Amino acid sequence: MNRVKKSHIFCLFITLNFICINITFAEPNSTVSKGREYYEKRGEIVWEVPSANKQIALTFDDGPDSIKTPKILDLLKQYEAKATFFVVGNRAEKLPDIVKRAQQEGHEIGNHSYSHPAFSRSSIKGMKSELDRTQEIIYKATGHKATLYRPPGGSYNESVVNICKQNELLMILWSWDQDTKDWASPGVGRIVNKVIQNVHDGDIILMHDYVHKSSQTVEALAKILPELKRRGYSFVTVSELLTNKEESDNHIKATK
Ligand SMILES: [Zn+2]
Repeated sequence: MNRVKKSHIFCLFITLNFICINITFAEPNSTVSKGREYYEKRGEIVWEVPSANKQIALTFDDGPDSIKTPKILDLLKQYEAKATFFVVGNRAEKLPDIVKRAQQEGHEIGNHSYSHPAFSRSSIKGMKSELDRTQEIIYKATGHKATLYRPPGGSYNESVVNICKQNELLMILWSWDQDTKDWASPGVGRIVNKVIQNVHDGDIILMHDYVHKSSQTVEALAKILPELKRRGYSFVTVSELLTNKEESDNHIKATK
């Protein structure tokens, strides 16, 4: 009898735990409730743009930085490469000339929030204000509003996806094998190897033009650009990568 009771209590404990776990995953404002496949199929979030063309998109987050961003822009110019800068509003408003220079040199400016909070834990009102303030700053600097958004830390949920849609922003993450983790200053060689050894057509590569007290990204980029160019890759903005893919898909359909 005692045994039966114990096993009932155990079953109840397991059931309650299961319910709790499911409630945690179902809660809209906590962790990611739907997987990559769901959002990728719906075209609501982009991780990479697999294509037959040897094109990749370099992306730089968290800037601008008064010293490193201009150095990155110089390197990009030297190798005829275009990139996308996901700027943080409170840095961009202090350095609008650098944002303007990037845009004038053919690079794309994306929105990366105003103060870099974890969006999946922010209120709807808070998220909207972060997006709007940064859009205004980008518009003031360049005359254009961003069409791409990257959430700080890549953290998103259903609410973040919805607020992006309402604000005509496409959410861009990055290829899972192209997270250089340059923000942690792992060493120039490691950043270079991560990119070179994993490169695929249509990759979106994650780097940072603002990393506190580190210039490893700049040094790594000086090695990555000539090596990938030697292998026949060209460097385009994220929007160009998406448009080129669409055009090549349409061309394939038309010739079938
Ligand atoms: Zn960031």
